[in-house]
Amino acid sequence: MADDRLSTPSGSRTMIPVALPVLGEPEAEAARRTILSGWVMQGPQVAAFESEFAAFVGSEYACAVSSCTTALHLGLLVVGVQPGDEVITVSHSFVATANSVRYCGATPVFVDIEPGTFDMDPRLIERVITPRTRAILCVHQVGMPCDMGAIVAIARRHGLGVVEDCACAVGSEIVWDGQWQKIGRPQGDVACFSFHPRKVITTGDGGMITTNRADWDSTFRLLRLHGMSLSTAARHGSRTVAFESYDIFGFNYRMTDIQAAIGREQLKRLPEIVTRRRELADRYADLLAEVPELGLPVEPSWARSNWQSYIVRLPQGVDQRAVMQDLLDRGVSTRRGIMCAHREPVYRTEPWSCGLGPGACGCAAGTCARLRESEQAQDRCIAIPLYPQMTGAEQDRVAEALTSAVAARAARRTAEHATVPGG
Ligand SMILES: *Cc1c(COP(=O)(O)O)cnc(C)c1O
Repeated sequence: MADDRLSTPSGSRTMIPVALPVLGEPEAEAARRTILSGWVMQGPQVAAFESEFAAFVGSEYACAVSSCTTALHLGLLVVGVQPGDEVITVSHSFVATANSVRYCGATPVFVDIEPGTFDMDPRLIERVITPRTRAILCVHQVGMPCDMGAIVAIARRHGLGVVEDCACAVGSEIVWDGQWQKIGRPQGDVACFSFHPRKVITTGDGGMITTNRADWDSTFRLLRLHGMSLSTAARHGSRTVAFESYDIFGFNYRMTDIQAAIGREQLKRLPEIVTRRRELADRYADLLAEVPELGLPVEPSWARSNWQSYIVRLPQGVDQRAVMQDLLDRGVSTRRGIMCAHREPVYRTEPWSCGLGPGACGCAAGTCARLRESEQAQDRCIAIPLYPQMTGAEQDRVAEALTSAVAARAARRTAEHATVPGG
């Protein structure tokens, strides 16, 4: 890769980070050019980034916004989510997923995940559909595509909108209509992306909404700009005096031209970034295959992840925090498994449902019998370092550290077990 940071010699990083954005001279130069152009807010760079992004994912339209969270809010609004409605989604995701449902005054209804892919289990959707259900909000968690075939079929049967949380999934692919397509084409109705630095490409903060419906794209453009009838570009280009009107209630969800200029450079790097991430993921699968009882991520035959994160499942009974500390002591940073919104204090007071009704399964206490796979994944999984600049030597160091930490902690588990009478 052209970036000098990609060829950092191994050994120069004493602490191996869990993730690292790929940013360099092209991004700095693009930001500089935009600043000096004098047009820094939602102008020509945003328009160009939108059309290049749409071309990359294969969608008709792409509308740039301030983040994936605001993209999700607009996506849910446009498929008709209103106060009092229910949206079927997962608890096992970054809290923004559930929060975006709350932005609409609607209630998130959580279904459990499949343990191998960390994605929504489609077999659980139909049993929680009620007359108030308006949409399904599925998450391509850490870049692994959801079972869109099953999810979209259920949605069509019940007249529900499908919003895809693609925060982590730019560059991921799925087999659709017999061929490989990019996530975001979209396979559902609306797809929402994030350009936060922890994702695969970044603009600092930033988001994108893709759809194939012209009317929805127009609505996104109104909603992101205070509901203003005339776009900034239209006013700027007009040779006759033009007054705008405010026809609908909107938001300030704009992206700046500085961000978009950086995004265009990131998009150029994306194919190479994804290729490298896939190489590293394949190599982890080889390096870690022999670690006893260690669960590796599952990529279905119809899916190609961009490997935004590489998440492993620790053996039953092995202390997650202790393994993470062992790795940190050896200079390897990790993160615990994806959070579960329903276990956080904020969702103890905000309404949500697992379809059984509050209290029926202990929901109110911050744990839910119907979300066991989600809770297990949070408690037993860790994300290990993966970034395009990672060297083979660094990856070896991670694999060795993980292998010995798991072995040591598993041995301790057996010893503790042996001292428990009848254990
Ligand atoms: C990061 C993330 C978000 C939020 O993205 P922002 O751009 O930071 O708003 C939403 N959903 C998922 C699954 C994420 O990982």
